[in-house]
Amino acid sequence: MYHHIKKLMYTVQVGTPDPRFGNMLLEQFGGANGELAAAMQYSIQGLNCDDPERKDMLMDIGTEELSHLEIVGTLARMHLKPMKNNRESAEVDPLIAIAGGGGVALHNSMGDAWTADYLKITGELDVDLRSDIAAEARAKIVYERLINFSDDPGTIDALQFLMTREITHMKAFTAALESLGKDRFSIGSIPPTPELVDQYFDDSTGTGDRGEPNARGPWNAGGSWQLVEAPAFSALKSEEKGTRHPTEENGSGRKSARQ
Ligand code: MN
Ligand code: MN
Repeated sequence: MYHHIKKLMYTVQVGTPDPRFGNMLLEQFGGANGELAAAMQYSIQGLNCDDPERKDMLMDIGTEELSHLEIVGTLARMHLKPMKNNRESAEVDPLIAIAGGGGVALHNSMGDAWTADYLKITGELDVDLRSDIAAEARAKIVYERLINFSDDPGTIDALQFLMTREITHMKAFTAALESLGKDRFSIGSIPPTPELVDQYFDDSTGTGDRGEPNARGPWNAGGSWQLVEAPAFSALKSEEKGTRHPTEENGSGRKSARQ
């Protein structure tokens, strides 16, 4: 159950309200990587989690994200408030000024409505935890950009707190994923097809306009990697030579990819 304690998790102070900045802050209120999305993603994942210990973590962090929503909403409201009565401020965002009276609503910084489509919930704990680690990384970088665009010490202070907590959560989710003891590339229960799984399709040729080489690196060379010429390109070349498409020969697009 939820219980409202009538104080913020972190004190919010704003010197001079900045409606433009308040608008940017809405990205963390009703945006794709914002606090509502985080709160809902972890809490709903928690409802689906059959592992009582990790469920406890998901619900704890989901609850903290609700407290973050309260902080960022309070902060955004302080910056947006002048929009209600001040014409110049209202022009920053007519939607917020005219429809919302200078208040926060579940929109992102562009006025797009929050949507449950932002949430990544698969019902598979390790897959969910990977989504959560990525979500925290996105939230962190958005806070960092907001900090860089503010010159109000009180605002920066609150954002620094929120940004730090996202790294804390990232550490917790990473440790929880590692504690499952699963192989990094083991997802679900059906194993991938041997050999095919180690093939890197070289789906480009030549050097790009920005100097992009046909690169080799740990993502396609060394270890068990096998570099395979792009299946489409190899088919094209064999057509030019007047030979038949390998797919036609063996009747299987999948098999042709291995050649
Ligand atoms: Mn948060
Ligand atoms: Mn977080």
